[in-house]
Amino acid sequence: MSYELPAETLQWRRKVRAFVDSELQPLELQAEMNEGRIPAEARKRHEKFAIDAGITLMDTPKSLGGLALPLLTQVAIVEQFGRVTNALGWCYGEVQSWMFEACNADQVKRYVLPTTRGEVHLCYAITEEDAGSDPGAIKTTAIRHGGHYLVNGEKWHVTSYNLANTMVVQAKLQSGEHCLFFCPINAPGVRVVRTPLYAHTYDHHHPIISFTNVKIPVADRIGEEGAGMDFAHAWFRRERLMIAARCCGAMARLIEEATRFAQTRVVSGEAIASYQLIQAMLADSVVDLQAARLMTYEAAAAHDRGDDLKALHARCSMAKLFASEAAFRVADRAVQIFGGRGYMRENVAERFLREIRVDRIWEGTSEIQRLIIARSLLKRGLEATAGNN
Ligand SMILES: Cc1cc2nc3c(=O)[nH]c(=O)nc-3n(C[C@H](O)[C@H](O)[C@H](O)COP(=O)(O)OP(=O)(O)OC[C@H]3O[C@@H](n4cnc5c(N)ncnc54)[C@H](O)[C@@H]3O)c2cc1C
Repeated sequence: MSYELPAETLQWRRKVRAFVDSELQPLELQAEMNEGRIPAEARKRHEKFAIDAGITLMDTPKSLGGLALPLLTQVAIVEQFGRVTNALGWCYGEVQSWMFEACNADQVKRYVLPTTRGEVHLCYAITEEDAGSDPGAIKTTAIRHGGHYLVNGEKWHVTSYNLANTMVVQAKLQSGEHCLFFCPINAPGVRVVRTPLYAHTYDHHHPIISFTNVKIPVADRIGEEGAGMDFAHAWFRRERLMIAARCCGAMARLIEEATRFAQTRVVSGEAIASYQLIQAMLADSVVDLQAARLMTYEAAAAHDRGDDLKALHARCSMAKLFASEAAFRVADRAVQIFGGRGYMRENVAERFLREIRVDRIWEGTSEIQRLIIARSLLKRGLEATAGNN
């Protein structure tokens, strides 16, 4: 169990952090007061930075012009985007290595590579009213008719649908097997049922989308019928690790902001930073960040070393579980340190408190992560699960 940050990783970290702090952070308040919106020109500029810097190519194979950065470096990059609120860090299309295994050459050309160039914007329609933690329970069907499928069903919480042009939809085939499909967001038969409001103030909405006899060509089915969705494990591992990384970025920002405030806020003649009860909150927050970062970076380094993927699955769950719960504790302490100001929407701690809550829910709730960790413990034993062998 060890990792060391190579010079290249540190360089990426510095570069992305400088962008996040100088370009994204100044827009947080404007976004918060405008339902998450920032000027279109700023949004374009942010995407251009990510594309020009190569961030959209970080998990693309070198054979296709990508950078195929070590996962440790990718985690260090994504961590920096976690430093901002209002989803301003979601400024680029994320292409992940599993896509190059799951998609055929034609789909890579039409959907995956254009995502790295900002031409395709994807959103994911998996969850349903009665199927969240247990995606096996989805009811959306894809029935084959010659050269196409007819898709029927309803999807919930489809994040970024309003900013996307293409959906990835999960449906059940006649055989009962699950399959993913690419589908234009405005394909005939696709309808926005409603767009509920959520706790955070994001320009990325999470509408409920219905599918009525939506015709999807066979060419847009991801993988062969019956090939299963083995890549889903790689997908989850990455998503969970990146949530942990963003939570680390959020914790770092919160600690910096709360410390700065504590050093300058004078109460009863003393800066509150001199009060030991305030120091305890800061100290506990640093411990939470340090532990979460160690788990996250180590799990990424273990991927790069080529550790057993099945055991790594539980390690990504541990990182996500710990980092998301730690980040919520840190945000709560930061609100407390800011006092009344910490409850104002213009305050960074208040925004993070609302935003970080969902990290304990999406991509598998904390309870589901605990189940994965416990199953690994029971099946593989402690040392393999914790990565100590
Ligand atoms: C803001 C937001 C954005 C999202 N974006 C997307 C998206 O883009 N695409 C998409 O497809 N989905 C998305 N989701 C859905 C998200 O992944 C699900 O909400 C999540 O997986 C939980 O499913 P659920 O809400 O149906 O909760 P449920 O599965 O109904 O769970 C309810 C409660 O029961 C607990 N529980 C469930 N099973 C067990 C068990 N076996 N043991 C113990 N406890 C259990 C859960 O932990 C939870 O506390 C989003 C959700 C939110 C809130």
